[in-house]
Amino acid sequence: MTDHACMRCGAPITGDEIALYQKLVFRNARQFLCLDCLAEDCATTRDRLEQLIAYYHRTGICSLFVQQDMG
Ligand SMILES: [Zn+2]
Repeated sequence: MTDHACMRCGAPITGDEIALYQKLVFRNARQFLCLDCLAEDCATTRDRLEQLIAYYHRTGICSLFVQQDMG
């Protein structure tokens, strides 16, 4: 868990959610959306985004997620 909260609904945001937001929306973002709000914006589902996070962790192809693991 981080100090960040979703800029729309105020839900606590995890490091993974930050990484995913930066990956999908804006690399240098300083405000973020939780998975539920991001799924709404992306016209997808929370499940789909969680699968995407798992995918990036598994493959290690995204430096944002590698940094999260080391932090
Ligand atoms: Zn939210």
